[in-house]
Order: sequence, then C-alpha cells, then structure tokens
Amino acid sequence: MKDNPNTDSVHIAGAGPAGLAAAITLAHAGRQVVVHEMHSEVGHRFQKDFQGLENWSTKGNALSFLNDIGIDINFTAKPCHTGTAYDAWDTQYDIKSDHPLFYLIERGPGPNSLDTGLLKQAQALGVEVRFKDKLTTIEGVGILAAGPKAPDAIAVGYHFETDMPDGYWVICDENLAPGGYAYLLIMDGHGTIKTCMFTGFKQEKTYVKRTVEAFERLVGLEMKNPVSHGGAGNFRIPDSAYSGLNPLVGEQAGFQDTLWGFGIRLAISSGVLAAQSLLNNENYDDLWHQQLRPQMQTSVVNRALYNLVGNHSYKWLLRRTTNKPDVRHALFKLYRPSLIKRCLLPIANLRYNSRRKDKACNHVDCHCVWCRHG
Ligand SMILES: Cc1cc2nc3c(=O)[nH]c(=O)nc-3n(C[C@H](O)[C@H](O)[C@H](O)COP(=O)(O)OP(=O)(O)OC[C@H]3O[C@@H](n4cnc5c(N)ncnc54)[C@H](O)[C@@H]3O)c2cc1C
Repeated sequence: MKDNPNTDSVHIAGAGPAGLAAAITLAHAGRQVVVHEMHSEVGHRFQKDFQGLENWSTKGNALSFLNDIGIDINFTAKPCHTGTAYDAWDTQYDIKSDHPLFYLIERGPGPNSLDTGLLKQAQALGVEVRFKDKLTTIEGVGILAAGPKAPDAIAVGYHFETDMPDGYWVICDENLAPGGYAYLLIMDGHGTIKTCMFTGFKQEKTYVKRTVEAFERLVGLEMKNPVSHGGAGNFRIPDSAYSGLNPLVGEQAGFQDTLWGFGIRLAISSGVLAAQSLLNNENYDDLWHQQLRPQMQTSVVNRALYNLVGNHSYKWLLRRTTNKPDVRHALFKLYRPSLIKRCLLPIANLRYNSRRKDKACNHVDCHCVWCRHG
C-alpha cells in the first residue's frame, strides 16, 4: 500500500455491475477511479441476455433501492407482474403480483443494457475505463470485481428473435434443469430461453433440447435466428471477502443467491459497500457480514430445501407461492432471514458445497486477481 490511501486512485478489476457500482460510488465522493476491463466492451459474457432484476428480496422497490444507493435507472427495466410456471407434470400455476415481481433488463454491450447504463454513469462522473486491460495484480488501493471463478450453476440455451408477445414462463422439472429451473423471457421481439442447472453439466445439450421442446409444447415457443448462449455462476459465502488488502465484490467473492442465481442486486450492493469501506475507512467484512450475509445464508438453506426431493419439492414450492393474489409477498417471505432458517443453516451447509476450493484467496498478503492457491 502507498502512503496515502485516501487520495490515491482506486483501481478496479472488472467492469461488471459490481465493479461499476463501486466505481460510481467512489466517483460520487470525488475519488479518482480506474476500471480495468479485460474485454473490449462491457457485458461481453452476456451479449443481449435478458435477466431479471428481482423485486422481492426487500419490501421496498428494487429501482428505488438503486436510486437510494446512487445508481440512476438509465437502462431499460420492464416491470413484470404476471407470468406462468409449470411443474414436471405440466400443471400450470399463475404468477400474479401487485407490484412488479422483477424488472426485465438486458445485459451485454447493447445501448439500453444495464452494463452500458452503469458504464455511462461511471464515465460521466470521470471514471477512466480501460478496455482490453486484463489485470493480474493490483498495486495500491483496489477492488477485485472479476466475476465468477468456478461454475456452481450454469444457464445455457439461446437468444433469438420472435413474433411472440412479451412475457415470462418458468418450468421446474429435473428432466429439463437438474437442481434448477428452465425459463423463457420475451421482450420487444427478442427472447432468451435457458436451462439453469446446478448439476449434470455434461449433459447440457440434452437439457437444452428438452427445454426447447417443453416450451414449444406448453407455450408455443417460436424462435427465429437462435444463437447459442450460456454462462456460469459461483455461489459461496466466504469468511472474509478480502484478497490481501483489496475487497472482493460480486461473484468474485462468491456473492450470489444460492437458491436461484439472482445475483445482480448482491453484486451492485457489495460494490457499493466495498467503495464505502474505502471512503470511510471501515472494515468491508463488517459491512457485508451485517448487510448481505443473512440473506445469502437464507438462500443456502432455501437451496437445501429446494433440492430435498426434486420434482416433488418444486411442486410443493409452486403450490405454496403461486396462484396467490401476490406472489411477491410469498417470495419475500421465502427470502427473508428467520430464526428457523438460521437453525437449519448448519445442516444446509453440509448439503451445499461450492465447487470453488481456493479458500486461500483470503490470506492477507495475497494480491493476485485470479488466486489459485490451494
Ligand atoms: C446466463 C446467466 C443468467 C443470469 N440471470 C440472472 C438474472 O436473471 N438475475 C440476476 O439477478 N442475476 C442473474 N445472473 C447472475 C448475474 O449475471 C451475476 O450475478 C452478475 O453479473 C455478477 O456481477 P459481477 O460484476 O460480479 O460479475 P460479471 O458481471 O461477470 O463482471 C465481471 C467483469 O470482470 C471482467 N474481468 C474478469 N477478469 C478480469 C481481469 N482479470 N481484469 C479485468 N477485467 C476482468 C469480465 O470481463 C467482466 O466484465 C445470471 C448469470 C448468468 C451466467
């Protein structure tokens, strides 16, 4: 570390939501920030992917939450209220919500995507973003925001064009998405279809084929010009989210929703907390332990319960949460930390293990971005 960490430029590895949220927070406070992005564009690994910015883990609205932490909504965010879910026996469940259940957003380098919106905000505040600049070490003050390091889940399928109306559909069926769920999202003539799998990765092609066939049968899926797409997610609650003296944020830390992989809000929140820890000389571990860990621990318990008896537990969960006037309320309760879930955590921890083994990233003198120790 250099002599005056409060005035030095902060270097951030990775221009994903976590890294850019950290950059925006630091720049708002007047700090010099350089973001290093290994690709020539933001959101390279997502390329027109539609994703859901969930609106159920807090009582307040997700977009207001972003505004409150200093992020503007300069990207397309389509509010989604009603949708349809199916279980493995083709039983249909209506999803209805008074407030938006989630906001459909685009990822990738497109003009209206979340990634481009965050990039524009950062650059307008004077943040320097260096593309095609892969970091291997950080000298001085830095934040590591390089995304997932190991695949605990994968989501694979297609992006496509379509004449189908806007909407979203979900199927919970082990034969399509082992340990996870299959989904179809359509907005303005474009679509994303994916099987989100927590196991059985080697048979991904089979699961993608079955997912496409199921949506063709159940909702009349029509795809034009399909392009294959997929990506991985890393779900892990570390003891410490420091690598040496540098905070780890977003999926590089393993911060994710272990139940279903809704990691965007955790990525952004952790980026903001890491920036605040640098600005206020606070301990980042204290901040995220207090504000993010209870929710992540709850998601580990939820995952263990979800996996309990496969298709039968999905059916039970769908019955409990859907066909209700307000599904958002049911999901809020599912995601809310509680005493009973705290008691179940030790058992859940025995049932869920991240594939990522390099715990030694946490040791104090480690400065590598891609630590492979251990
Ligand atoms: C297919 C798919 C669908 C998903 N759907 C949803 C969803 O619907 N809702 C939701 O909330 N979440 C979803 N997620 C999860 C969500 O996308 C992630 O949790 C989120 O993007 C994590 O943000 P991040 O900034 O930590 O990492 P990333 O978004 O991966 O960004 C990391 C950045 O760092 C760059 N980088 C990596 N290494 C280096 C280096 N050494 N030097 C410089 N730059 C580097 C990368 O190029 C990348 O731009 C999905 C994930 C996948 C794969």
